[in-house]
Amino acid sequence: MIGLKRFNCPSCGYRFSWRERSRFSDVLGLKRRAAACPGCGTELTWDKWPWRLLYLGTFGLMLAVILIRFLLPETELSDLLLLIVELPLITVILVSAYRLRLIPATPDSPPGSDSTA
Ligand SMILES: [Zn+2]
Repeated sequence: MIGLKRFNCPSCGYRFSWRERSRFSDVLGLKRRAAACPGCGTELTWDKWPWRLLYLGTFGLMLAVILIRFLLPETELSDLLLLIVELPLITVILVSAYRLRLIPATPDSPPGSDSTA
């Protein structure tokens, strides 16, 4: 299937199962966590932006559905409004989910280039 490779280790190609992928986030799945690849020992983590957008999109979608459903009477207008708000958010979620992949966990500020070696 297309896209399955993003759940492979970028260094050695080790394929992570669903269960193993849960190691890359905390118990609630809200925070990214680095974990070592069982194949080669490289520290891996989820790519930052797809991960963030996936959560922002999901959170925004839940919020939008709750707000519109509770604040507005159920009419064709509220259905339409919900659709208008939902579609971009669903797009963000789908695109983020598609782009989500494991990358080597490197510090935010990589070491500068060698001065004298
Ligand atoms: Zn590996």
